[in-house]
Parts: sequence; C-alpha cells; structure tokens
Amino acid sequence: MSAFDGLKIVSDHKHLWQKKRKQRTKPPRRDPSALPCLNCDRLLPRDRGHPYMFCSDRCSEFARHIRYVRGCRLDGRINQERVQKAIAVERGHILAGGYSKRPIPKKRRDEVFARDQGQCVRCGQPGTQIHHMRGPSNALDNLQLLCQDCHLEESSARLVPISDADLAPAAREAAYDRAAELDERIEVKKPLRQCDDYVNWDKKIRHRTARERSSAALAVVHEKKE
Ligand SMILES: [Zn+2]
Ligand SMILES: [Zn+2]
Repeated sequence: MSAFDGLKIVSDHKHLWQKKRKQRTKPPRRDPSALPCLNCDRLLPRDRGHPYMFCSDRCSEFARHIRYVRGCRLDGRINQERVQKAIAVERGHILAGGYSKRPIPKKRRDEVFARDQGQCVRCGQPGTQIHHMRGPSNALDNLQLLCQDCHLEESSARLVPISDADLAPAAREAAYDRAAELDERIEVKKPLRQCDDYVNWDKKIRHRTARERSSAALAVVHEKKE
C-alpha cells in the first residue's frame, strides 16, 4: 500500500494543487525586518501578513485544522462519527490546497432560503447551510439549502481518493510531504509549533503573539517613515 492511499481530496478542487503549488514556489522575501510565518516559516514582511502571524489563509487554515484535531483527540470528541466525518472533509480540502473562498452574497442567500422554504432539501429539517452542488458558482441552480448533518453527508460523499496518476510528480511529492507533515503535527504528544497548541492557543499564545508581532510591525512602519 502506498502512503498516498490515505490521502483524500475533493475532486472539484484537484486543480488547486497545481495552481497553488506555483504560487508557493516564489522565493521568500528578503526583507531584513521580516518575521517567519508561524505555520511554514516563510518570511512575511512585518507590516503585512495575516495579522502578522501567517503568510496566507492557507497556512492559517492548516494550523487551525491541526489544533482542531488535536483538541478532538484530547477531549474524546474524536470518537463521534460526525466529528470523524467533519475532520475527513476538512483534511480533504486542506490537502487539496485549502478551502476555496466562495462567499455567497446576502441577496442570493435570501433567494435560496426563499426558494427552498427554509428547509433542508434532503430531510426537511430547518435548513442552516448553503451547499454548492457542483463547483464554486454562486448561480441559483448550483445552490441548495441543507441542514448541518446533510451538508456533512454531501461533502463526505464528494471525497474521492486521489491516485498518483492524478498529479504531476512535483505536485505528488508535495502532496506526500504535506500529508506527512499534517499527520506528524497532529500525532506528536507535545505540539511542534505554537500554532498547533490547542490548549494554549486561544487562551494565551494567539493574543500575545499577535500583540508582539503587530507592535514590531508598527515600529518598522514608523522607522520607514522617519
Ligand atoms: Zn505560511
Ligand atoms: Zn438535512
């Protein structure tokens, strides 16, 4: 069995691997005042970044997923079937290159709620989430109202194992590396990075680090102005 058998990816998003891979291979910026991304160590200029902590939404999501799974393992939520499903879906998205952001405008959301009469189109329970049926289009006929459970079912059903043949060799290697890094950071007893620390991240680390980094960034902005 290849290590790749465990890697699942959302078929709709397969193309993201190749696309995002190109973006990632940009050389790091050589700004002497740059701070490393907490997730990947790529340098980010102090006056930019994702509040000075992550180089991208993608890194922020990667670390958030690690904290979530570590938390579920610590407090036993991991034993719930629906949590396992949610983790599998998130993992699929993350390994496929991150969630593609496709916010639905308020007007379109209202149209979907009105058309589906506020009910999940699968089970008739009150609908709470809007599902993209195929691809990222926000066209009315691509959207349907679902309850949380049915949305999870739909998303799980769309996970397909990806084979080596689906990816170019360079992308394949990166996919293996990424999956291995994800598993390692989830499984080690002591968090390998500050941003993996489920217990302390929200309570201490996040605020302190954001504060330190933003004051460092402001100092640099002032220096540049003078
Ligand atoms: Zn990063
Ligand atoms: Zn439902």
